[in-house]
Amino acid sequence: MKIICIGRNYADHAKEMNAALPTQPIFFLKPDTALLREGDFYYPNFTKDLHFECELVIKIDKVGKHIDPAYAHKYYSQFTLGIDFTARDLQQHCKEKGLPWEPAKGFDHSAPLSPIWLNVKDYDFQNIEFRFYQNETLRQIGSPKDFIFQIDALIAYVSQFITLKTGDLLFTGTPAGVGPVQIGDQLRAELNGQTLLELAIK
Ligand code: MG
Repeated sequence: MKIICIGRNYADHAKEMNAALPTQPIFFLKPDTALLREGDFYYPNFTKDLHFECELVIKIDKVGKHIDPAYAHKYYSQFTLGIDFTARDLQQHCKEKGLPWEPAKGFDHSAPLSPIWLNVKDYDFQNIEFRFYQNETLRQIGSPKDFIFQIDALIAYVSQFITLKTGDLLFTGTPAGVGPVQIGDQLRAELNGQTLLELAIK
């Protein structure tokens, strides 16, 4: 299983990062050891600027490569919410030096994932809305309607390079509002008002 993460898929987040709008999708990978399916998150000692990025996550249902955008919808049926934890100080260093992002993005438990999966067909998917709270303060609001690249386009694009396999996860990018977490924080993510993910920072 692999975790494919999309970067800069919301214009408002690209703006807050002082990054240009992409003309084609940007993606990177996290290893399967990045997954955190239950329990709390322990603040790692290699960063002093750990940021949350709450994201809509799609589960791939079957193997595919060179997937046509018109058929991409056949490759997923479920979604949930996750966090793309980012060591922003390490990422900034990597960006400045032109180095790979894995130390900043791919570390153990950098991808907490809700245990609750929802069916795409049960929702007006384009208009679903997720909200992310830090200590019950609203920090992020995201929706597919604000994506720069829709899920079918992302699947088509990524599968040109990498074969998608059953159980692979696609993190679809984060909206504006990212920020640092501190030990003691309580994080919570909800979808159309339903809490899907709760996590303490320890
Ligand atoms: Mg992200």
